[in-house]
Amino acid sequence: MSYSLNSDQKQIQDLVRRVARERVAPRAADIDRTAEYPQDMFDLLKELGLFSLPFPVEYGGTASLLSGCVAVEELGRVCYNTAYLLVVQWATFGAILGGGSPEQKKRWLSALSSGEARGALSLTESQSGSDVSGIKTTARRTAKGYTINGAKIWCTNSHIADFILVGAKTLDESGAAKGINLFIVERGTKGLTIGEPEDKMGARGVPSCPLFFDEMHVPVEARLGPDDGTGFKLAMSMLNTTRPVVGARSVGLAQGAIDHCLDFLADRRAFGRHIKDFQGMRWMLADMDMRTEVARQIVYAAASRADEGIKGKEFARIASMAKCFASDVGMEVATQAMQIFGAAGISSDYPINRYFRDAKVVQIVEGTNQIQRNIIADVLLGSATQR
Ligand SMILES: Cc1cc2nc3c(=O)[nH]c(=O)nc-3n(C[C@H](O)[C@H](O)[C@H](O)COP(=O)(O)OP(=O)(O)OC[C@H]3O[C@@H](n4cnc5c(N)ncnc54)[C@H](O)[C@@H]3O)c2cc1C
Repeated sequence: MSYSLNSDQKQIQDLVRRVARERVAPRAADIDRTAEYPQDMFDLLKELGLFSLPFPVEYGGTASLLSGCVAVEELGRVCYNTAYLLVVQWATFGAILGGGSPEQKKRWLSALSSGEARGALSLTESQSGSDVSGIKTTARRTAKGYTINGAKIWCTNSHIADFILVGAKTLDESGAAKGINLFIVERGTKGLTIGEPEDKMGARGVPSCPLFFDEMHVPVEARLGPDDGTGFKLAMSMLNTTRPVVGARSVGLAQGAIDHCLDFLADRRAFGRHIKDFQGMRWMLADMDMRTEVARQIVYAAASRADEGIKGKEFARIASMAKCFASDVGMEVATQAMQIFGAAGISSDYPINRYFRDAKVVQIVEGTNQIQRNIIADVLLGSATQR
């Protein structure tokens, strides 16, 4: 099945492809080397209006996840970290759209869409990443709201976010468990400490930090969802929404690795011949291209289903396929690209090892690829969907 782009999406593709080549590509190696947050790239994406793409029209967007995927793919082709700026901006919007009160939607959705505000999502703790239900951070109900205590790790974007969507186990005033909730914790909230960023091998330009909550008070209005215990479902549906976009980042990465291989193959010679004339090289390249195209099609298919309004298990299945298949292809293609480069691939003088390092990250984040396979199998077998 082939998924084509409409004329608006083709225009977005042309625009982002040009900007990516002219303005983003020259910054990519430096962002990776310094591991400094690329504020200039954020400003560029904001100026182009790209943050708005998947948001509903009423919040200034185009209501198209497929358009968002196309933009992420084109940026990811030259700079994983700049593509990540879009992905992380969209990490929280599904939960606010799905479970936010009218006030929460009004306050945050237009601001996220325009790039006036930045968000971060915090579920992972040292003892539980895949198993979201195993989180230990607590939110104890008080007369005025909730008091949150605990610690998180790997919260990407937290150092510059205007708010962090925090998952916590809710306790009533007597201490009885009431299930998981998501809370919008605003920057500067008393009791919130953001720790030092991780020193990462990939995804280096968008810092991931630990968080500490010490008797942090939030009002009831900070809770997403109508009641205590509604956060787990919201979190799962939020992760589903962004999975095609995460897959698009790997499609872009794989395409970018192929682009760099074509440049390298143009000149490299061995045994008196161009290495591109060896059948071993040609077949490897053909396999890389073939698998990248299939990954693109499954990502577009998943995003198109979201745009058609398909939800629930039917969407969860294809969204997990898109994330899992595309990121496995991204890793495979980046590994083969390293092989084509030979020793040059190991040297930081060439861009390809950046693709290899970034590719590994996508197989782990937003639900590992084992968890994606569990979701697909659960849908097939009819058991409860896990993250
Ligand atoms: C660069 C980066 C950015 C991140 N950003 C964020 C962020 O912004 N917010 C956030 O909350 N988290 C973030 N994370 C954390 C990420 O979501 C978790 O690392 C991920 O969910 C996996 O959790 P874990 O590392 O604890 O692995 P674990 O859950 O401990 O898993 C370890 C291994 O066991 C496997 N495994 C676990 N359970 C099963 C199962 N049921 N079946 C089969 N295999 C299983 C896993 O697939 C994995 O291979 C980030 C991580 C990275 C690397």
